[in-house]
Amino acid sequence: MTKQVINKVGVIGGGQLAWMMGKAANNLGVELIIQTPKKDDPAVSISSKTILAPVADAFATAELADLCDVITFENEFVDLKALSLLEQKGVCFRPGLGVLAPLLDKYEQRCFFQSLGLKNPDFFTLIDPDQSTPSVKYPLVIKARRHGYDGQGTFVVYSENELYSCWAKMGDRPIIVEEFIPFVKELAVMVARSTTGEIVVYPVVETQQENQVCRRVLVTTDIDDKISQEIQEIARNLVTGLKAIGIFGIELFLTAKGEVIINEIAPRTHNSGHYTIEACETSQFSQHLQAVCGLELGAVNLKCKGAVMVNLLGFETSVNDYQEKRAEIAKISDCYVHWYGKTASRPGRKLGHVTILSEDGNRDNLLAIAQKVEKIWYGN
Ligand code: ADP
Repeated sequence: MTKQVINKVGVIGGGQLAWMMGKAANNLGVELIIQTPKKDDPAVSISSKTILAPVADAFATAELADLCDVITFENEFVDLKALSLLEQKGVCFRPGLGVLAPLLDKYEQRCFFQSLGLKNPDFFTLIDPDQSTPSVKYPLVIKARRHGYDGQGTFVVYSENELYSCWAKMGDRPIIVEEFIPFVKELAVMVARSTTGEIVVYPVVETQQENQVCRRVLVTTDIDDKISQEIQEIARNLVTGLKAIGIFGIELFLTAKGEVIINEIAPRTHNSGHYTIEACETSQFSQHLQAVCGLELGAVNLKCKGAVMVNLLGFETSVNDYQEKRAEIAKISDCYVHWYGKTASRPGRKLGHVTILSEDGNRDNLLAIAQKVEKIWYGN
């Protein structure tokens, strides 16, 4: 049987995750066609053609489908129902819409994890602000069921009053309420599955969030081997069960007792996998394209002992490309600066990231490098 060659990939979403696919696409000889709302979105610069439309606009996705062999996602804020009409007409989505279905809504995702017997925080949903909460212990974490990202739409609340006031700020949309997990560490892993069912699992990394936003990722040898193996097994089982095609990012909590509790799975490339661009044999961006194009997967081994990825988050509202700060950071040895080319900065916005490769995987040494970067970026 001859295999259909896929060399035109449609991508729904044109942020930095799609932008970073550009280089990998070039290397693989793949053309990227992007659906994204704004002409100054990062990935417009690397797309061969752009469909300027919101990610949830399925009519625009129908146009996109005419221009490419397969459609993938850099952003999951899609209208699944509308897209399923396209899938019925033969449009190829990778991952398929059936894979996305249990994952797009944080409440449904938790139900899905529960059905697989994975350890979840206790959780329930609130739909209507007149609904009373079951008797629960605070603190709790409340999250918008859909359209939350980078901690936007996630709040830790310490009382019922605070729960309802935060919820009101979120526009009273349906929320998931979760038990607060007093984790000692947050861990993450990237996993990819190919069209033939081949699976590769990247190293388990530590992620550090502040105010619910990822600040840094440590590729460190200071993660217990048994915990890593347990997490890699969870990753493998998840993509096998889903029959997923493409790359997935999985975030987990580690408790003081050594318990691993799942936080979430993202059906796409992920911030916690940016380090793979320089630190691994195959970057998460190339791996994803290899999977969705029906190619063999690449090796996921580390090319260094350790690495640290630091997000360059906006710290003010301004229009600035921070060239001086970037040049200063770039002087650090084995440092790679990625600047997403966003024109406007605002507090918390992901403007770029930096990866530094290290001769050792010692956590404290990696943290010291991260501190150096952050001192230049944020000042004192
Ligand atoms: P987003 O999808 O916006 O990134 P997450 O659900 O990943 O939101 O939450 C962001 C961060 O909030 C997590 O990385 C973690 O630091 C914190 N968090 C989320 N859920 C919980 C929880 N149940 N218990 C403790 N902290 C949590």
